[in-house]
Amino acid sequence: LEHPQRIRSSGGRIPHLKYLPIAASESLASGRGIQVVSPSPDHSFHLDLEALSALLLREDLKDRAVVVVSVAGAFRKGKSFLLDFFLRYLHHTYILEGSGDWLGSEDEPLRGFSWRGGSKRDTTGLLLWSQPFKATLSNGEKVVILLMDTQGTFDSMSTVHDNVTVFALSTMLSSVQIYNLSQNIEEDDLQQLQLFTEYGRLAARGGGGKPFQKLQMLVRDWSFTSDYAYGAEGGRQLLEKWLEIPEGQHEDLQAVRRDITSCFEELACFLMPHPGLIVARNPKFDGKISDIDPEFKKSLRELVPMLLAPQNLVPKRIQGAAVRARDLLLYFKAYLGVFNG
Ligand code: GDP
Ligand code: MG
Repeated sequence: LEHPQRIRSSGGRIPHLKYLPIAASESLASGRGIQVVSPSPDHSFHLDLEALSALLLREDLKDRAVVVVSVAGAFRKGKSFLLDFFLRYLHHTYILEGSGDWLGSEDEPLRGFSWRGGSKRDTTGLLLWSQPFKATLSNGEKVVILLMDTQGTFDSMSTVHDNVTVFALSTMLSSVQIYNLSQNIEEDDLQQLQLFTEYGRLAARGGGGKPFQKLQMLVRDWSFTSDYAYGAEGGRQLLEKWLEIPEGQHEDLQAVRRDITSCFEELACFLMPHPGLIVARNPKFDGKISDIDPEFKKSLRELVPMLLAPQNLVPKRIQGAAVRARDLLLYFKAYLGVFNG
């Protein structure tokens, strides 16, 4: 039997589907981004309850605690591109249970791994990857990993409210929010974050502790390597500098920093190198791994397991309690209700 992915990409349709092994249904090529939340013209948000229920109420998943990894930030800054590598890692680790290099061999193209979020190019709202990944934590807890892609509206009709809503919803529903930034951290980026910390306080109402778990800032195309090195350690130093409250700092700037630190249990930052011109210039990059800058690949090998290896998974908690897949469905409904209120 040919590998299902190869059949898929060669012909578009899978021939003799019923003869394929069970694992075929889990091949990455057959996965897709499911649009679960989309904005309506009147700026309310629509929940695709049917699609979401089909995923979260699956018999083998509904009682598992969820690990929800979300990527948020401005349009066309490589979020979906990054998610393709997350998928590659998750597939390698949790489905193939493979050893060796999850990134694959140098001449292997990224074929079939693209994050397809529906037909419209400017898909907005929240998408979940159709294939959940089952994992077991070091304490024996059985979890399911869900990947979330987000997209704000950046056309002329967009409003600040829509963008904040997408960002706030994805933060409230995820256990790890990856805040994707271009080139550097700016004061504006911190202010964007602060905009929804008030929703965080709302979510935390009644419960002790911080409302959200992990915020992972990810700076793309980092170039000031003589100041801070690529990777997690350079990122930690940069973030520390940003969150400092020096004597005499303006009250507003202090408030931004205090609000952000009070909302997340863990704040981290990672400095990512430029992926190289072949990736940056080709709008639908599907070339070989060897076309990606080696420095970028090195950073991927550090970043991706740091977020997705079994020992690093962060299960979603709301007011201290683990959230199971079927609970997550209720939170989707409740939070959307708040925003549509
Ligand atoms: P999204 O809108 O944030 O999801 O962005 P995409 O993942 O669709 O990527 C937009 C474009 O940026 C594509 O042409 C990618 O090949 C390219 N790209 C991906 N990652 C990076 C990166 O780290 N730096 C640069 N400069 N371009 C990237
Ligand atoms: Mg995208």
